[in-house]
Amino acid sequence: MPAWHATLQGYMIDHIRPNARRNCGCGYRQADTIHHCRDCAIAIHMYGLLQPENLFPSTPSHFQQLLFNIWTNSAPPAFPPRIWTTISLITICAIEIGRRTAYRLKYHPQTGQPMSSTRIIQKAQQEAEAFFWKTLGDRKATFSPGKEDTPKLPFLAWDHSAASWRITKPHRWSLRLSQA
Ligand SMILES: [Zn+2]
Repeated sequence: MPAWHATLQGYMIDHIRPNARRNCGCGYRQADTIHHCRDCAIAIHMYGLLQPENLFPSTPSHFQQLLFNIWTNSAPPAFPPRIWTTISLITICAIEIGRRTAYRLKYHPQTGQPMSSTRIIQKAQQEAEAFFWKTLGDRKATFSPGKEDTPKLPFLAWDHSAASWRITKPHRWSLRLSQA
């Protein structure tokens, strides 16, 4: 089952005729699957956290590779599927939470002063990111115990001395669409 059945209210956006599609929370009008899964600023922010340039250093198409592995929910080679499945779903859920945050701020603001679109997207990215790290932190205890050959992710590694997973947040967001 494609992972996007788990979100987007359970149906594939491309099966909805264009003029009936809802706007994305980021403000993009009548958003299609390409926007939701690839181009949305909230999604791109989340992909940047996963550092695809470090995750797939052997290919120049690391962004495309990441999209494939996230949205087909299939683990990269030599990577434990159980861990990758969790990371994929957390990422997809985080993107959805970011979009809902943006939607709420845009259409149901708590203050009389409307926020700028830039600020709304920033807040949505922060909410999505906070959800991702919190959920990954909560779920990492359920991953298989690390072995000598446990693949190391740019943001998650098994710490042998502490016998636990260690999360390393990137210092800055480094992904640019021009690198896709
Ligand atoms: Zn969007």
